[in-house]
Amino acid sequence: MPGPARGSGSAVSQEAVGEFARRLVRWQARAGRNDLPWQSTRDPYAIWVAEIMLQQTQVGTAIPYYRRFMARFPDIAALASAPEDEVMRLWSGLGYYSRARNLRRAARDIVERHAGRFPAALADIERLPGIGRSTAAAIAGFAFGARAAILDGNVKRVLARHFLVEGFPGEPAVERRLWALAESLVPKRGVEAYIQGLMDLGATLCTAKRPACGRCPVRATCGAYAANRVTDLPAPRPRRRVPARSAVMLVLRHGADVLIERRPATGVWGGLWSLPELVDAADVPAGGGPDAGLAAAVKRAVARRYGFDVRRVAPLATVRHAFTHFTLDIRPLLVDVVGVDRRAGEPGALWLPLEEAGAAALPAPVKRLLLRLGGGASGGDQPSLLEEAVQDL
Ligand code: SF4
Repeated sequence: MPGPARGSGSAVSQEAVGEFARRLVRWQARAGRNDLPWQSTRDPYAIWVAEIMLQQTQVGTAIPYYRRFMARFPDIAALASAPEDEVMRLWSGLGYYSRARNLRRAARDIVERHAGRFPAALADIERLPGIGRSTAAAIAGFAFGARAAILDGNVKRVLARHFLVEGFPGEPAVERRLWALAESLVPKRGVEAYIQGLMDLGATLCTAKRPACGRCPVRATCGAYAANRVTDLPAPRPRRRVPARSAVMLVLRHGADVLIERRPATGVWGGLWSLPELVDAADVPAGGGPDAGLAAAVKRAVARRYGFDVRRVAPLATVRHAFTHFTLDIRPLLVDVVGVDRRAGEPGALWLPLEEAGAAALPAPVKRLLLRLGGGASGGDQPSLLEEAVQDL
């Protein structure tokens, strides 16, 4: 008897492969599901409708829908000639309605391109709307006894656990390994019982949560069970690394007022008011820490852009803001300026008392920053950022 399966799936021995299928087939006959309404037929149409319903629906929920659907559309011709509204009505409550639309479209394709007979070739089945590789294999296996591998979500879980396939099954390389493994496992005879056994095992025992390993027919050869890694496999979807960006924002302060500017209409926070940014990369010293280099860069940029003299530059606490695709660390600098000619004004910019500026149409993190700077109500119990100005640069 072979021991637990190990390795990435590609190194599974012939003996282990044969044993896996044998155990599964024996168990399916004894304990699997053998009296479902679509199991008593070889009619590819009836099997196809069932496979599509079961893609996103549990067996118990699907059965009454299946019976109603088959009573109204008993064959391909009936479905192909039915109004779409009626097909959708009979699907109503099952969800994922593109399944029903695709069923009807595929029935019409079969009438037009295959003279109304469900195609027997795997490649032809797979070309029908709404039928993927795994569903095509299941239909071909159940209806025509074709030796083709299935690999739906449940089967991926079973194979990843039993054969210790590492990595997230949605990754193309992992999925390729699983397909190769699934194909190598298909037995020469008894394909239908094997496919049904695999489906039954994934749906009833090797479930995503709390698998019933104690009752599993392939426990003796299961790599994950032997390695006590059942809950680790398959690996979950990796967390997407969100890139981090940073921006240096200037709180230009003149007396009790601060300067806000309207942002360009397009881009991040388009059209909102905000604090001026140190945009020129050449202005921001590498590393960007609170140092004399940064203070000198601020003085240069403020003189060039506004003609103000800078009296003091003090770093404030960084404000982090999460966008969908990146996080932004705002590094605010409090910049006291002189030499401001209020009569001239700044194009697209406003001098406002701190509290009023905080009430303008600002992006949330900038608003939070200004409210905290003024110790405003919405700043809550947070200390004023002015008190956090750690040092002059
Ligand atoms: S022993 Fe447990 S983890 Fe392994 S295949 Fe069976 S149910 Fe799944």
